[in-house]
Amino acid sequence: MQLDNSFAELPPAFYTRLMPTPLPAPYFVAGSASAAALVGLDPAELSHEDFVTVFTGNQVPPRAKPLSAVYSGHQFGHWAGQLGDGRAILLGELSGPGGKLELQLKGAGMTPYSRMGDGRAVLRSSIREFLCSEAMAALGIPTTRALMVTGSNQRVVRETVESAAVVTRMAPSFVRFGSFEHFSYNNRHEELRILADYVIDGFYPELRGAANPYLALLEEVTQRTGRMIAHWQAVGFMHGVMNTDNMSILGLTLDYGPFGFMEAFDVDHICNHTDQGGRYSYSNQVPVGHWNCYALANALMPLIGDKEGAEAALDTYIDAYGEQFDRLMHAKLGLTTALEDDKALFDAMFQAMQAGHVDFTQFFRKLADLRVDVPEAEVPDADAPLRDLFIDRPAFDVWALRYRARLRAEGSVDTERQLAMRKVNPKYVLRNYLAQTAIERAQNGDFSEVSKLLDILSRPFDEQPEHETYAELPPDWAAQLEVSCSS
Ligand code: AMP
Ligand code: MG
Repeated sequence: MQLDNSFAELPPAFYTRLMPTPLPAPYFVAGSASAAALVGLDPAELSHEDFVTVFTGNQVPPRAKPLSAVYSGHQFGHWAGQLGDGRAILLGELSGPGGKLELQLKGAGMTPYSRMGDGRAVLRSSIREFLCSEAMAALGIPTTRALMVTGSNQRVVRETVESAAVVTRMAPSFVRFGSFEHFSYNNRHEELRILADYVIDGFYPELRGAANPYLALLEEVTQRTGRMIAHWQAVGFMHGVMNTDNMSILGLTLDYGPFGFMEAFDVDHICNHTDQGGRYSYSNQVPVGHWNCYALANALMPLIGDKEGAEAALDTYIDAYGEQFDRLMHAKLGLTTALEDDKALFDAMFQAMQAGHVDFTQFFRKLADLRVDVPEAEVPDADAPLRDLFIDRPAFDVWALRYRARLRAEGSVDTERQLAMRKVNPKYVLRNYLAQTAIERAQNGDFSEVSKLLDILSRPFDEQPEHETYAELPPDWAAQLEVSCSS
């Protein structure tokens, strides 16, 4: 395996060169065929001993220049100072059909940025990150990817004793908002410029021609962030820890920890048990994304030098988010035209969903079953499966009346609309209880459920009648599940 490493060409201020710390007797847990294909690796070979050795960090390919990057960031709204790759080691990059992608080992041992941590990741969180990265990609949401997970019986202490794992992540770059904040807050403007130039030249070459490329960078990243968060809201994804060190400069969903997919709809749902104030609740993700772009703007100000320009660039977040969310909502509801009143229709829908405690994924999926071409007297029967999702059924009826009228007004054809809606409203998402089931089996040495889930989640829009149970509401025991920052 011939690895390049363009990040290693940057001056030493950006990283520390180091070797991963080996783990005893590593074993293969799971691999992603579609991620492997992106970098031209044979998926069938991922479980081969050589790959397990390399992607655990027990052996480094010749001429690779592994490193951990430094960054800082705002955590839960407060400046946290220096953070950095405390347990992630960049091996290098591979080129393939997916372009040039960096390969990073998460959980590969202590680094100079480990602070109080042990440099390790546990099997539980590695499986969650692996599955969710790949599930998000299959949903068409910008995200880092995950190539594979390996495990070792080495003990890792969290709330309980768990076992170690390494997840190999892939992205064109893992540079974060916090990478810029690091150099800016330390008044190292020369390095700040080098980093901005590296990002522009490597990933946004079209911005080089702008009058103020740094301002153009801020605007582009702001818009990508807004569009990414529109995708999250439209699928009910909650990141859980939207600190600026977890915000990708490429607008990718990054650092999967205590994330969650909305089940019973609650606009204020908090998926991260550690986030008591709900800073990163479902509804707060939208303004927090904007706030994070402000933090990036502050960091870039020494390069941008144009306060009004920066403010205007930040303002574009609202439209980038709003337009993308609006597009996604129209598609989710099977609407092919856009009307002035549609926002009110969407708002009323979310209100009914809230009152009805309706399962987010099931609601949108089953919405495709609603028919317009049905005699008035048969509507209650026809709507029953969808209506039954709502605790407050009259709230649904009121909204459904309005939705049908809207569909009729644009001459919507049931069969066509239903097909289109099933292509954008997933049937299968990574519910916490599904991940938990796969994790518990894996902790007992049976990794088959991880691969099975990956397979199901790679085709989230397919009916997959043989996997019907994976689309069901969470069982009662799932109410006790808590996910926290512990990983
Ligand atoms: P996160 O909340 O996972 O985004 O992590 C915040 C910071 O803590 C990052 O700098 C991580 O690299 C670091 N970190 C998290 N867990 C560990 C660990 N077990 N060992 C070392 N560093 C860690
Ligand atoms: Mg992080």
